[in-house]
Amino acid sequence: MYDYLIVGAGLFGSLFAYEANKNGKNVLVIDKRNHVGGNIFTENVERINVHKYGAHIFHTDDKRIWDYINQFADFNNYINCPIARYKNEVYNLPFNMNTFSRLWGVITPEQARERINQQIKEANIIEPQNLEEQAISLVGKDIYEKLIKGYTEKQWGRKAKELPAFIIKRIPVRFTYNNNYFNDRYQGIPIGGYTNIIKKMLDGIDVKLNTDFFDKREYYMNSAKRIIFTGMIDEFYNYCFGELEYRSLKFETEVLNIENFQGNAVVNYNEFEVPYTRIIEHKHFEFGTQKKTAITREYPVAWHRGDEPYYAINNEKNNNLYKKYEELAKSENKVVFGGRLGMYKYFDMDDTIKAALELSKKEFK
Ligand code: FAD
Ligand code: UDP
Repeated sequence: MYDYLIVGAGLFGSLFAYEANKNGKNVLVIDKRNHVGGNIFTENVERINVHKYGAHIFHTDDKRIWDYINQFADFNNYINCPIARYKNEVYNLPFNMNTFSRLWGVITPEQARERINQQIKEANIIEPQNLEEQAISLVGKDIYEKLIKGYTEKQWGRKAKELPAFIIKRIPVRFTYNNNYFNDRYQGIPIGGYTNIIKKMLDGIDVKLNTDFFDKREYYMNSAKRIIFTGMIDEFYNYCFGELEYRSLKFETEVLNIENFQGNAVVNYNEFEVPYTRIIEHKHFEFGTQKKTAITREYPVAWHRGDEPYYAINNEKNNNLYKKYEELAKSENKVVFGGRLGMYKYFDMDDTIKAALELSKKEFK
């Protein structure tokens, strides 16, 4: 009998396991995958740390979280400055003076503002109701059409008009020549990869891989006094109120016998006709000088039961459905739901850490 069974060896589950162990609790972690780390898993290929589930850049504005994660790794000074390709045109992201200048030939912030304001006026949007209107009212129609519409519609598999506005607000819009994708004070990549962080968290803790909770549900329900569940909350409840929607991804990685494929860690492919959204060249996250390179194409795909649920689709319909599951979860006296799937939220790594620390504090007060 364990004090805690933790379902999922991702960042949430592993961090919680670390805190539980530190507090003298007896813990078992299980994961259905054949490795720990969940989506932040990195694998060393040709001495390059490959982000197996897409680009992961650590960034936070919260000094406590930065200090916390730095116990487990040294971070380098990587700053994410993705490139956007639209056909044969190349732009800087996030949307900033470099983007505006390349697109319109403008030089000053005032000229850029004038262009954007004119396009907003023409679009006649007063209160943005969806992602399309929100995007146009932030950066105007030209940028929306080249760099947002195609990327967004293939990423989410639905029209930008049918998506919530908040998704696009994650990306900064700046009237300075600054290509840093994030506004946060702290940013970097853990030297040696993310998997080492998870291994340190799980050091000395019982871990069972290739183990699906649902294969032996009754057995696992009785194996511990408390259960932290970081899988899909709707699956836990047998989809009793219906399925929550997710977006899935397909990753295609190849090693190339050249030193430098694209000159940047992240290059987005913004037109709809290219089936992938981005190509990651992993060595550039750690300023690698290896003779070979490893790249990953990321294709958005529809999610069906059994596929990996990479992104929650947090529109009104799904959020309302999630609320019903959340209500049901409140009546549990043994099971707590955590993480991106258990809480059905778009969590960056710092949000995940914050949520796991909050739960730890509650459990071990
Ligand atoms: P997960 O990593 O999904 O872990 C859940 C684990 O539970 C998985 O290992 C799964 O196998 C296991 N599991 C599920 N069901 C069962 C079951 N029934 N039985 C046993 N095990 C089960 N964040 C950033 O801060 N910066 C970024 O640049 C960034 N980029 C991202 C890019 C992509 C493509 C994605 C998908 C996410 C990105 N994130 C990024 C978010 C980051 O991945 C998450 O914050 C973090 O991984 C969440 O951890 P978690 O433990 O909640 O979930
Ligand atoms: N987006 C876009 N063009 C880009 C990059 C992003 O239109 O070149 C939109 C897209 O809708 C995406 C959202 O902005 O889902 C958030 O982008 P972010 O880079 O945060 O996506 P994530 O890394 O979470 O996939």
